[in-house]
Amino acid sequence: MKTPERNSQDNSNAVDPYEAAEEARQALSGMIFAALKMRGRKFRAAPASLPLTIIAGFLGAGKTTLLNHLLVEPHGRRLAVLVNDFGSINIDADLVSSRTEDMISLTNGCACCAVAGDLTETLIDIAEREELPDAIVLEASGIADTQAIVQIALTNPAMRVEGALVVVDAETVFELAEDPHAGRLFRNQIAAADLCALSKLDLLDEAGRTAARDWLATQVPGKPVVEAFNGAVPAEVVLGIGATRHAPCSPPVSTDHAHDFDSFSFTVDEPLDGERLRALFDSLPTSLLRAKGVLNLTEEPARRTVYQRVGERWSYTPAAPWGDETPRSSIVFIGPAGWIDRSKLETGLDACRADINDARPTKTLPHKER
Ligand SMILES: [Zn+2]
Repeated sequence: MKTPERNSQDNSNAVDPYEAAEEARQALSGMIFAALKMRGRKFRAAPASLPLTIIAGFLGAGKTTLLNHLLVEPHGRRLAVLVNDFGSINIDADLVSSRTEDMISLTNGCACCAVAGDLTETLIDIAEREELPDAIVLEASGIADTQAIVQIALTNPAMRVEGALVVVDAETVFELAEDPHAGRLFRNQIAAADLCALSKLDLLDEAGRTAARDWLATQVPGKPVVEAFNGAVPAEVVLGIGATRHAPCSPPVSTDHAHDFDSFSFTVDEPLDGERLRALFDSLPTSLLRAKGVLNLTEEPARRTVYQRVGERWSYTPAAPWGDETPRSSIVFIGPAGWIDRSKLETGLDACRADINDARPTKTLPHKER
């Protein structure tokens, strides 16, 4: 039997003011590092020849769904795809449908601050390739400051920032805009958009849809807004935003948002009992902003089950067979800093391991309706 592996290397639970100041300092030095790395660099790629599209938007807005739609659409362009996840395991990279694509995952921190150095290095590597991609698509973490990502990309002379597409979840828009922890970041993300994609309108009635459209129009006056049903935005729209972004003449502002959020990652090889896990997922506090995972459930041993939670809505979705890959469960929880009770979560998840109590009969996996 394999020993369960656990990853608890995420940010500390408590928000220490010194630690917060240190993170802000790191964020700023990340950008300075990016600028210094670029000084006097000459790349194989000609100046401003690599179009970069940034897919941004708050936790759970539907960025990966939109990216997946783009990757399966036959647009004929060779894409380099960068996927950034705030947690220490990159669930989004697992959920990107075409694994054979040229995909790079940026893990364990947000690419606009904590792992800004990794983003810088990755963009340098791409610009130095012998075979250059036709375009680069970066899926930012759900807590990334859109403008900061744009500024880091612009320090690389080979990049031409095609624009920032910000995905906005129509169902949670009012809640998030007023959220004391996330509201400011959420509104800043939207304000930095060159194009907004309003998602999940199908979950609302007509009045709700109108209210969400009207609110967004007031936030991004004069900017285009498209409606994305199941992430469907045509490739020529996503890859052809055509924004004119120029390198900033003043140093970028420091982003200090990373310490506002906290994540907890859990990985285990033993199959989990889907029923017990369902009870745990139903009992999670509403303060939890986001959870996602790829699960190895006793009820579905041959294939992955994808777990998604946005706001209070959650679902299990059957996904690809494990094939040659060793089945294992990986889950990431994201919430306001200090609001994630790691030990309680860990104890709860451990109790869902099928080998803890296998006297209990397993049932067919119920599919929770959206
Ligand atoms: Zn960041």
